[in-house]
This record gives sequence, structure tokens and C-alpha cells, in this order.
Amino acid sequence: MMLTVLGSGSSGNCYIVGSSNERVLLDCGLTQREILRGLNFNVAVVDAILLTHEHKDHALSARAFHKMGVPVYSGTETSHKCEYVRPVSALKPFSAGKFNIIGFPLPHDETPNMGFLMRHPDMGTLLYMTDFAYCPYNFKKVGINHLMVECNYCESDLDIDDDAYKHRVQGHAALNTTKGVIRANMTDALKTVTIIHVSSNYGNPDRMLTEVKSIVGDGVEVNIAVPGLTIQL
Ligand SMILES: [Zn+2]
Ligand SMILES: [Zn+2]
Repeated sequence: MMLTVLGSGSSGNCYIVGSSNERVLLDCGLTQREILRGLNFNVAVVDAILLTHEHKDHALSARAFHKMGVPVYSGTETSHKCEYVRPVSALKPFSAGKFNIIGFPLPHDETPNMGFLMRHPDMGTLLYMTDFAYCPYNFKKVGINHLMVECNYCESDLDIDDDAYKHRVQGHAALNTTKGVIRANMTDALKTVTIIHVSSNYGNPDRMLTEVKSIVGDGVEVNIAVPGLTIQL
């Protein structure tokens, strides 16, 4: 199974997880055209779109893919605003093809947001968390194999006078937060860590990569998500 990054960050988030004949999209915040190209125009193999929240950088093409017949799953509150969403109850497992999935709420400023834990017999477990100030849950007992986690900014680079200061602090993960999430969920089962949604203004990819690598050690593959990146799961 593979993880393919089509987009990551406030300009648009979309990730493909799966194989050539069964796939899940994590968010769909790029144009239809960009996502279709990433899928080699094969929409029929997409079992589900897991939508974290309603912001455009995650949801831009959700309605369009729903119209193409792909089920879009997100939290109950998001389904009240986006009528095409199939509501997911927090911490209640559901299936899409051979993927077993659990959604859980994550604090994203004022906007309802959901993280997802998914499992597939050919992939193991993958935890996807983005646009969150902190994580109220611990998944250590699950033995996460693949972690996709936001690392938006470095605290020391933040500008308190910036208009988006409050949103960033209350809605996005700082490097120290991301490191805490990794430490809290790390076991010997961990194989890959993919750092996602890095801010173009307040992120520091080199520092993030170095500091995350120092936590997980050499046995774990660590990458910063950039369009076109593929990772073997
Ligand atoms: Zn976002
Ligand atoms: Zn957002």
C-alpha cells in the first residue's frame, strides 16, 4: 500500500492511501482536476473520502466527488453544514471496503474537526491528525504503524501581532505539540511518520524533520509531506 501526497498545507490538502484497486482519500482540498489527475482518473476505486472539516483547504472538491458517487465521511456537526456528508459518530468504527475506520474529534479553533484512525490488513494502522491545537486521545495501545500528523509552526517563529495568531495557536499544532503526540503514541510498531500541513510562513521543515527524527530514531522513516511524495506503507 502507498501514501501519495497530492497537496499539504493551507493551499490545499489531499492524500491518497491504498493500492491501485482500493483507495481512501484523506481530505480533498484541491481542485477536482488536480485530484482526478492524482487518481489517474480512476474514481471507481475510491472507497471513501475522510473529510476532517469544512475549511476549503480540506473540503474544496468534497461535493464534486460526492456527486461522482464517492461517499464522504465526516463528523456529525460537519454533516449539518455540508448536506452531502455521511455523519460519523465519534469513536464508533465503520468500514469502507476493507478499511476499518474510527473518527474522533479534534479541537480546531471554532470549527468542528475530526481525526481518523484507519486499519487495513495490508497496511496495518494509520493515524491521520491535522488542524488541531492538541489531541485529547492516546492510541498507544493500538500500536500505530503509520502516523500522519500536522506540524504547522515553531513556537519561537510565531508573530503575536499577526492577524491569524489566535487561529494558529488555538487551531494548529506547534512543533512541541506534534512531538508530544509522537512521543505519546510511539511504540516499536511505528514505521513511518509523515509531517503534514506545515505553514509556509511559520513552519521550518528542516528543524521539524531533525527534531522529529531525534525522537523516533533511525528505524522509522520520517518525511515532510510535499506534493508528489509517495511513501510505501
Ligand atoms: Zn487546514
Ligand atoms: Zn482548518
